Amino acid sequence: MTCANVLTIKMNNKAAATAAMATVKNVLATTSIKEPREGKFAEIADCLKVKKNTISGFTGVWVDTWELLIPEILKALAAQGNKFSGDNHWSSDYDSEYWQFNFDGKELVITSNFHCGDDEPVCQECDEEVTYEYDEDNDCYVCPECGHEMSAEEYEARCETFKIQKFTF
Ligand SMILES: [Zn+2]
Repeated sequence: MTCANVLTIKMNNKAAATAAMATVKNVLATTSIKEPREGKFAEIADCLKVKKNTISGFTGVWVDTWELLIPEILKALAAQGNKFSGDNHWSSDYDSEYWQFNFDGKELVITSNFHCGDDEPVCQECDEEVTYEYDEDNDCYVCPECGHEMSAEEYEARCETFKIQKFTF
């Protein structure tokens, strides 16, 4: 599955961002992940731009590749020693994933939250093929047909997968 993907990496200053961009391009040019999009990473590099202290870009990615590629990019950046933080988000019609990352000069922490559209629960009360909708005011999920409520924790446990990766440098 190829998805629209937005990546943002914030460095401390423009010089650090320019150096980081060179590192990112190097990872994209040299990494060898055996995968359908192998050899197509140059397209991703072309989408990324440096503006002030930030690298950002919008690109189509093969999701399975991205899962492997983003930690490789971030680990290579952390190895350079400069602090950074940022996020990455992709979505298709059914699924989406939100990543956040931070490197404080010593530890790189990468979190990801994958939302699986196929696993969204249907209402237990009215048994309709409708999925719960998020109610921002009460931070819970509500059936649009009968009003049955599901806690945010239960909803997320059903269809979201949270992962955390930590690397020390
Ligand atoms: Zn219902």
